[in-house]
Order: sequence, then C-alpha cells, then structure tokens
Amino acid sequence: MSDKYASRMSSVHRSFIREILKVTADPSIISFAGGLPNPRMFPVEPMEAAAREVLGTSGRVSMQYSQTEGDVELRKFISKRYLEKKNLNISPDELLITTGSQQCLDLIGKVYLDKGDKIAIESPGYLGAIQAFSIFEPQFVSVSLESDGPNLEELEQRFKDGAKIFYAVPNFQNPSGLSYSREKRKAVAELLDKYNVLFVEDDPYGELRFMGEDLPTVYSFQKKPGILLGSFSKIAAPGFRIGWLVAGGERRDKLVIAKQASDLHTSTVAQAIMRTYMLENDIDDHIALIRETYGKHRDIMVEMIDRYFPDGVETTRPEGGMFLWSTLPEGCSSMDLFDKAIAKKVAFVPGKPFYADGSGENTLRLNFSNADPDRIEEGIKRLGESIREFLD
Ligand code: PMP
Repeated sequence: MSDKYASRMSSVHRSFIREILKVTADPSIISFAGGLPNPRMFPVEPMEAAAREVLGTSGRVSMQYSQTEGDVELRKFISKRYLEKKNLNISPDELLITTGSQQCLDLIGKVYLDKGDKIAIESPGYLGAIQAFSIFEPQFVSVSLESDGPNLEELEQRFKDGAKIFYAVPNFQNPSGLSYSREKRKAVAELLDKYNVLFVEDDPYGELRFMGEDLPTVYSFQKKPGILLGSFSKIAAPGFRIGWLVAGGERRDKLVIAKQASDLHTSTVAQAIMRTYMLENDIDDHIALIRETYGKHRDIMVEMIDRYFPDGVETTRPEGGMFLWSTLPEGCSSMDLFDKAIAKKVAFVPGKPFYADGSGENTLRLNFSNADPDRIEEGIKRLGESIREFLD
C-alpha cells in the first residue's frame, strides 16, 4: 500500500534529465546530456585558500546560524558588480542570497502561485523551472521561442488571458542556447509593464558570452521591475549552492518569510568561502578563462555538426552559455533517436520534456561545456551517424 501523498505531488514528475543521467553514468558513453559545467574550470586551489582563511580566522562566526537575507559583504559584492557590469543600481538591501538560483523558483512559487494561476513560460523552457513551479499546481501557458526571443503576439495574448507571471531565460537559454535581441527585450518589457505581469528573469549564463555584444537585462527596460535571478554556479562552482534574487521592499519581505520557512538561510560557511574567494581573486580573469574554453568547445561542436549532421537537421548557433539545440525533420522522434544513439554510446536530452505543452517531439539538447574537445569530436561524429541511420 502506498502512502497517502499530497495531491500536489501527482502533478510533479522526476526530472527526466536526472533519470537520463543515470543511463549516461557509464564512462564509455560520451554524454552531451547533462547541464554540467566543466570541472576543470572549478577554482579549486583559490577556494581551498578561501576555505582555510574562513575556517582559520572566523570559523566560530561562519559556522553559526545567521540572517536569512544572506552575508552582507557578499551582497555588497553582488551589488557592486551589477553596477560595474550592467550599470544597474541595486542596493544590498534588495538582494536575497538563496540556496542556488533554483531555490528562487521555489520561493517565488510559494509567494505568488495559487493553484490554477497562469504562468507563462518559454517553449521550450527550463525544465527545472517547470518542475519547481509544478509543485504549486499552476496552469502553464506556453510562448514560442523564436531565434531572437519570444513570439510577441503569443506573449501579449497570454498576458491578456491573465498570466500572472512570465518566467524566462533571455541569455543563452537552457535548453535552446537562444538569446533575446535588444528590440525584443524592450518590447517584452513594454508588454510586461502594460499588462502588469511579474517578470522572473533568470540569468545564470549571461556572463558566459563568447561572441557578439553584451545586451542589457529586460529588468533594466522595465518601469515596474520584475525579479532578477543570479547564480555563482556557472561562474565559480555549483556545489556551493549559492544564488540570489533581486527584489525590493515588500516583495523581498515576503520572499524572506518564505525562505525562513524553507531553510532559515543559505549555508553560512559556503557564503563566507564564496565571499572570500570573490573578494580576494579576480573573478573576471576566471570568467575570461571559462568563456575562452567553452567558446572553443562550442566552435568544435558547431564545426562537427556542420560536417556530420545530415541536411534537414537545424541547430542553433549560440553566442554563449552551455547548450545547442537541434531540430530533426518534422515527424521524427528524438526519443527514438535516443535509443539508437545510446547503442552507439553517445547521449543527449530529447527535447519534449522542455515543452510545457507536450510538443517538441523532434527536438534535442546538446551540452558543450562538460565534455572535452576530443570527446566532442568523437561524440558528434557518432551522433551524426545515428541520425543518418535513423533518417534513412
Ligand atoms: N536556471 C537555469 C536556467 C538553469 O539552467 C539552472 C541550472 N541548471 C538553474 C536556474 C539553477 O542553477 P543553480 O541553482 O545552480 O543556481
């Protein structure tokens, strides 16, 4: 007899990607399936020095409970960086440090979503957000993502139909790798203001740009700003589980209450080590190294795709981030391709789970940050062969 679970659990599924990762744990499989940063990019030695310093000089403070809002010096650092990099004036009092930016999604769900509320999401959209929000039993309404951002007519229609929130990843989106153009950023901001919809702007990849011009946040174009999310996962390391959100006044108070109820506060030791690392090292130098490395990975993957994928398969050419997105000819199932690819010991993520409306059967996501260049070359060759055999 199974337990009497809460009804909300029936609308939430195990993360499909986490399930796939079990299949791809076999080291002989070349995996483009995960969304993992490359561990060679983790700043292990400077973090070790930061950890020694924190534990050696202030261990008794940093191991104690602390305030929910998060480490003040870390918030000052993030605030200063927004000003320097994005020309955004964000006070440390408008920041809430969270346990990864993933927690922001849970807190926002707790504070804003009642059962049945409409939430607009890109199609395809970030699977972790679909999962996090699903707990609150909202109604997802999809907005097609085009090469330069969301389809604006669809977006306006969703807003007219009463969407309460629009959740999006305007920079190098997970899963598609696509980014919004400057024009669409402005247009989206205008629509959000006009219909008074709360924008949740998730930006974990914005600093990982390899080419093209840096673009302003949608947040900066809004008269009534939304909630901006950030994370140290992709510029330092995800294991610390440190992210943040930008929200002022009453909005932040509500989110702080939700966080208190969830976990009191994010790990004080992890925050202290991250703060020390950030203040004592040049994070821009480190990010430059990540950009250079992932940029090379991206170029190799694109080159190999051009060489080995058959005509009729379309692939995005992202200017940053960690993902590429391929579309097979209409009517082909990437789930079926997955089995063929696994037989050739190469893995990807079928795209369907990224569509809240159940479409996207013929799409797939490829991660280029985690595998090293020789594995990318070999893996794309194998995948190209699998696709050719599959389409024949
Ligand atoms: N948002 C997006 C779009 C992501 O891709 C991820 C990581 N997969 C997250 C949020 C969560 O990242 P973290 O909790 O490590 O900050």
